[in-house]
Amino acid sequence: MDYTTIIGLEVHVQLQTDSKIFCGCSTKFNPDHPNVQTCPVCLGLPGSLPVMNRRAFELSVKTALALNCRIANFTKWDRKQYYYPDLPKGYQISQYDLPFSHDGWLEIVANPETGEKKRVGIIRAHLEEDAGKNTHDETGRGNDSQVDLNRAGTPLLEIVSHPDMRSAQEAKKYLEELKLLLTYLQVSDCNMQEGSLRCDANVNVHIFRDGKKIATPLVEIKNLNSFRNIELAIEFEADRQYKQWQVDGKTIKDVAKETRGYDAVHNLTVRQRGKEDAADYRYFPDPDLVPVTLENSYIEGVRGALIEFPAARRARYISSYQLSQYDASVLVDQGLTYAEYFEAVAAICGDGKQACNWLTQDVQREMNERKLSIEQFPIQPPVLGEILKRVNEKKITIKSGREIFMDLLVSDAPATISVARIDQIIQEKDLSIKSDSGQLEGVIAAVLVKNPKAIADFKAGKQAAVGALIGQVMREVKGADAGTVRELLLKKLAE
Ligand code: ZN
Ligand code: MN
Repeated sequence: MDYTTIIGLEVHVQLQTDSKIFCGCSTKFNPDHPNVQTCPVCLGLPGSLPVMNRRAFELSVKTALALNCRIANFTKWDRKQYYYPDLPKGYQISQYDLPFSHDGWLEIVANPETGEKKRVGIIRAHLEEDAGKNTHDETGRGNDSQVDLNRAGTPLLEIVSHPDMRSAQEAKKYLEELKLLLTYLQVSDCNMQEGSLRCDANVNVHIFRDGKKIATPLVEIKNLNSFRNIELAIEFEADRQYKQWQVDGKTIKDVAKETRGYDAVHNLTVRQRGKEDAADYRYFPDPDLVPVTLENSYIEGVRGALIEFPAARRARYISSYQLSQYDASVLVDQGLTYAEYFEAVAAICGDGKQACNWLTQDVQREMNERKLSIEQFPIQPPVLGEILKRVNEKKITIKSGREIFMDLLVSDAPATISVARIDQIIQEKDLSIKSDSGQLEGVIAAVLVKNPKAIADFKAGKQAAVGALIGQVMREVKGADAGTVRELLLKKLAE
């Protein structure tokens, strides 16, 4: 392959407000009851007047600040004219030449093993309204296209990146990090199935020949609605452009930008139309809405209320819990609740690595098995933390810890799972570590008498022989700590 893929992403994200951006209708996802969340404003009836949703604007400023953008003190609304059945006004209210934010960046971990980072530039983020949704009868029998305007007027934040990504994998990474940031900020649920996060990719390839760079015509792939499709669509499109160039030699200077759609069933992109440019939309300022002016004190107020971002959290986990880059990413990338679960367990048991191992192995396995989210997981941080604390304090073995963990999950109703139950199970099952070394030494002596062959093997240099002896002692003394048994055994054998 002698070309480089150049990718910029435009992401539309639905903001988590209760009501729409210019009216009081609900934004609830409600496809089963079309056109019930509507009013004269979002239906575009004559004489109705929009009023801006303050909360939508605040969430947008919050996101733009988290993306290191500059916030404009003056911003206005523009009408973007086009006709489509799901757009009853005949125009979308958006922001054209004076978006409320511009010139930011998002850092991605380009390589999770090495922790190698890369900054993707953000050109701008602006606020606009969503359109409704057309549904078409896909049986081909026709006559069954319908329009649902429940979604019309839902606040959308459009985030436009620079063409800084160089592979489909990098584009996916950027989108994953953006989604994670948006969910940490709680500005969007980013539910891709429900269309809360939608992505268009601008793609072309640079081919290097005789020391010169040749750029192929630009293509925008519309409405990519899953991470998998984004990767596949970009890979297909880059390859297609390279092959097309080999056939006709046309470059970015010869062909206008075109819009293509991704066909997931056949894994290919299909030409939809030549891309309109701004003039086709006849943008002009919306006379029904006043411009928005922001005081610096407002912007600083929003900035001051920002919580720790995923990237900062990963860095903190590495420095304060001595976790690897990989472990830190696994914990943080699962979302805010997961990360906070980890921190709560680590605080109680006093060992970050141990908390990480249990969360990513034992808890994760049971979550998968039971199809539970971390919010639904019945063993909450205080209980897991106390189990691990008892392991750390050598009150129970790690094996007993696992047994208690599973006992709670299997036999206890979620409401009865408590720290008190841990100690009850320890008592009932007699799991506490016997620190009485007199008893242990007696059992060890008895086991040694019964195993002259293992002793001989060990003295002949077979380290593994100790394992069998430890096993026998542990069977005799329930709840014995393997480490202590091993220590005492080795001492005895050395005599
Ligand atoms: Zn409405
Ligand atoms: Mn848009």
